[in-house]
Amino acid sequence: MAARVLVSDDLSAEAVRILRDAGLEVDVKVGLPAAELEAIVGGYDALAVRSATKVSARLLEKAARLRVVGRAGVGVDNVDLDAATRRGVVVMNTPGGSSTTVAELALAMILSLSRHVPSATASVKAGKWEKKRFQGRELAGKTLGVVGIGNIGSVLVDRALAMKMRVVAYDPFITPEAASKLGAELVDLERLWREADVVSLHVPLTEQTRHLVGAATLAKMRKGAILVNCARGGIVDERAVADSLAAGHLGGAALDVFEKEPPAADHPLFAFDNVVCTPHIGASTEEAQSAVAVAIAEQLVAYLRDGIVKNAVNVPGLPKEVLDQLAPFLPLAEKLGAVAAQLGPQGPSEVTVEVSGELASVPMRPLAARALVGLLRHFLETPVNEVNAPAIAKDRGIHVREVRSAEPHDWASLVTLRVRGQGGETLVAGTVYGKREARIVRVNGFRVEAVPSGHVIVVENDDAPGVVGNLGTALAAAGVNIALISLSRLDDRSGAFSFLNVDSAPSPEVLDRLRGLPHVRSVRALVL
Ligand code: NAD
Repeated sequence: MAARVLVSDDLSAEAVRILRDAGLEVDVKVGLPAAELEAIVGGYDALAVRSATKVSARLLEKAARLRVVGRAGVGVDNVDLDAATRRGVVVMNTPGGSSTTVAELALAMILSLSRHVPSATASVKAGKWEKKRFQGRELAGKTLGVVGIGNIGSVLVDRALAMKMRVVAYDPFITPEAASKLGAELVDLERLWREADVVSLHVPLTEQTRHLVGAATLAKMRKGAILVNCARGGIVDERAVADSLAAGHLGGAALDVFEKEPPAADHPLFAFDNVVCTPHIGASTEEAQSAVAVAIAEQLVAYLRDGIVKNAVNVPGLPKEVLDQLAPFLPLAEKLGAVAAQLGPQGPSEVTVEVSGELASVPMRPLAARALVGLLRHFLETPVNEVNAPAIAKDRGIHVREVRSAEPHDWASLVTLRVRGQGGETLVAGTVYGKREARIVRVNGFRVEAVPSGHVIVVENDDAPGVVGNLGTALAAAGVNIALISLSRLDDRSGAFSFLNVDSAPSPEVLDRLRGLPHVRSVRALVL
């Protein structure tokens, strides 16, 4: 019997044709109320959606035959992934399907600002002929600074090279070799702000990237530089951009995304001629919408006909015995990855996951995959999970090694993660006490006993009296409560380390205050 596919969001005629041509039985029922969908979903092997259909736990419960959900697009917020995984339903998406489209908008933004296209249009339509006022600038020979060279950033690099621009890029998660293959020179952020005539942002919105472009950054940018944000609202501090434009420092700004969407009608940026805005239409082209629909149709066909899984975003089941032994260590491995992502070297090129003790007899691939999830999730917009993490690492040129070790140590089982990248290696090791109590027991040369959860401040300092007291006092003054603290020092007393679990996120100002305390060498804030 042919597999049955329910298309419950508007895909495209071509996508439906691909499904039908493959011999699948396809019903297109767009916009059904939840109750009606629940009533019929039991008859289908596959569900094809965009973002409108809510694939809830309740819907999945009724979907007795369902084997796969295909999401045309990237975000899978509308799918209950845990419920799908529990029911053995594979969920697939189509990462990268709109990259060309978004990169083209960024290029359009850059060109319109450089040649004043929107304001010149308004002027001509108002009956004026202001040739002098709209003198612009060429892109050829100018420097583009791309922040984040993932799916979209890397397409923009390619297009900018065609415009004969020089491209510098900052991305802590890519090697200089990978960047140079794309045609960009990997630089640190300070250099990017200093050298770029045009800065285009293509990073996800994370703790690290929120207000990445604020007053301090803008001041470092070249006078007259152009700023483009087609990524996410919140990466740019819009107030600070308005101030910089008003001061005549920034030459222009283009935004497709805003901190609040839609923005208020009296938004401070709207007063400027040299601001170009679009209503979050980065991915809105016929081609992108059709490309993701065709991609998901092809993926569904490959899965239903040949069992080939592509771009799955949830986990296939593990045998129960393996899962029972591994289960407590999987979240630990993810935390180790998250610590390494935040403490570790930039541009990771090699990740080694080592297990020892009782755990060494269990298949370790799931642990390695989970450590990669913790590491990669921190940097990527694409949903990262155990299924796609190894492939993403490979695409990014990260070599992953799995090692079983017989080295003796003090724990029943130990998981050690080593991340090598530009400028060195970071080592984080952890264990699980009882069934669930994950602990980090080593960070580089320091032995600790730290709980990897919530907001954490990591401090390296001289091994001198008073440091911990000073940290406590400074945090108390800022209203940041310390929940737990783990202290450590090197055997030769050449350095000490504190891992502080705090109840709330410390502000950048508080972190700077800590950095200014006597004997403090470095301060990092982590979210675990
Ligand atoms: P991606 O995950 O492929 O790439 C993101 C890149 O940013 C990665 O290479 C990552 O290493 C890098 N990165 C992460 N943290 C960084 C940091 N602190 N500094 C510098 N680089 C960092 O994502 P993508 O598909 O290229 O999407 C990029 C952005 O575009 C995302 O914010 C996404 O939400 C947005 N987007 C916007 C639209 C729109 O309609 N305007 C459409 C699609 C995507």
